[in-house]
Amino acid sequence: ASSYPSVIVIGAGMSGISAAKTLHDNNIKDFIILEATNRISGRIHKTEFAGYTVEKGANWLHGAEGPEKNPMYEIAEKINLKNFYSDFSNVSLNTYKQNGEKYSMEEVEAAIALADDNEEFGTKLAEQFSANTKEDDDMSLLAAQRLNKKEPKTILERMVDFYFNDGEQAEAPRVSSLKHILPRPEFSLYGDGEYFVADPRGFEGITHTIAKSFLSYTNHTVTDPRLMFNQVVTEIEYKRRSVTVKTEDGNVYKAKYVIVSPSLGVLQSDLITFTPELPLWKRRAISEFSIGIYTKIFLKFPYKFWPTGPGTEFFFYVHARRGYYAIWQQLENEYPGSNILFVTVADEESKRVEQQPDEVTKAEAMEVLRKIFGEDIPEATDIMIPRWYSDRFYRGTFTNWPVGYTNKKHKNLRAPVGRVFFTGEHTHPELFGYADGAYFAGITTANDILARLKGGILPWHNQDMKL
Ligand code: FAD
Repeated sequence: ASSYPSVIVIGAGMSGISAAKTLHDNNIKDFIILEATNRISGRIHKTEFAGYTVEKGANWLHGAEGPEKNPMYEIAEKINLKNFYSDFSNVSLNTYKQNGEKYSMEEVEAAIALADDNEEFGTKLAEQFSANTKEDDDMSLLAAQRLNKKEPKTILERMVDFYFNDGEQAEAPRVSSLKHILPRPEFSLYGDGEYFVADPRGFEGITHTIAKSFLSYTNHTVTDPRLMFNQVVTEIEYKRRSVTVKTEDGNVYKAKYVIVSPSLGVLQSDLITFTPELPLWKRRAISEFSIGIYTKIFLKFPYKFWPTGPGTEFFFYVHARRGYYAIWQQLENEYPGSNILFVTVADEESKRVEQQPDEVTKAEAMEVLRKIFGEDIPEATDIMIPRWYSDRFYRGTFTNWPVGYTNKKHKNLRAPVGRVFFTGEHTHPELFGYADGAYFAGITTANDILARLKGGILPWHNQDMKL
């Protein structure tokens, strides 16, 4: 028997916690978890804004009405986590032109019908491609729109396209793989309804519920000695019989196996050095997959000047510049009287907004609101802008499957290299991008290690991992 633990888990986000729980449930209790920040949950992250709990990261749950139960939704139900049905059905009545005038309902409905048609056409085509397992036949979402002779062209059509696509994948349709995006698994598995979490415990109440089932807690705080905070892993040295992990503050940990759970964005950066260098097939799999950026900008006002009541939850702003302060949501259902609005930007706009002072972003958002609601509206008194792309522990928000990325490459993304195992939302072949994908990925990776510990042969064993 060795004096060092069986497994080091790097990262205490949803996937790392779910991997550690799976080890625990299978009687491997000598693991340690090294987390760079001072909290668990990673990209599931509540924060206080103007006296209310809002989510900088994951916000929506699926799973109330579909054929399968989403484990995230089941836990939310169990702990009575407050969540609210998001009603997008009336946006055709609340869509504004660049100069602030309203579009007619008919115009917006026509643009939505175009997007629906493209999605239906694309889904059928994707199903044909997927049935054809021999080849990696695929095209971009944009190419499928063209094949359907319905490429969005007007700025209104392009805004609705942004809402349908960039608003989900946080990248433009020209980047995304048709076959791996449609049909959207969260909807086909769990149902169409999207439920917005607004609860003082936050979406992270779900991660804590999982963590509490196997880690020791004192007064709602994890105090298990196996979980170590503020441990920024910078080096992973893997050998035939062990793995050594080094942190920024000079700590050295040794184990039989390591599970690497930080985001794809972190793996694409230079934060963690692998010794020896990871093989080219692995580095290519990491470099060629994609992570997008999705930013909810929260604004607090002294009073409400936007319409409230049924059918007013969302409004759209259509600007010639794709996705410019496009998708707006009010929190009157969730937090009556909070006078909070938030606007979602993505991709290049997110990168731009992250790198400019908050005051500049506030002025841009105010200019949009003044166009829509008039010059007399009050100035926002507070603003909060998450910066997932600049944060060296994330470098993005969730992954997207780019066109041209094959199933074989994705297997390489998930595959271990010697004693180094990989997990995280990006390693789930269907539910990549989502919290439940991270949860299932953690279980799969832990099971791979359990199989290896028992001397079993992994599914990767016979795989040709050459390029
Ligand atoms: P992470 O949460 O990133 O966990 C990795 C952990 O590793 C983190 O705690 C990080 O701090 C740590 N770490 C990083 N580097 C190091 C290092 N060098 N050393 C030690 N530790 C390190 N999902 C949904 O289901 N519904 C949604 O509505 C939704 N919306 C989203 C909106 C936004 C803005 C964001 C950011 C995400 C959203 N997601 C949503 C996605 C969901 O949050 C993620 O898929 C999921 O939380 C990822 O979990 P993970 O364990 O794979 O990664």
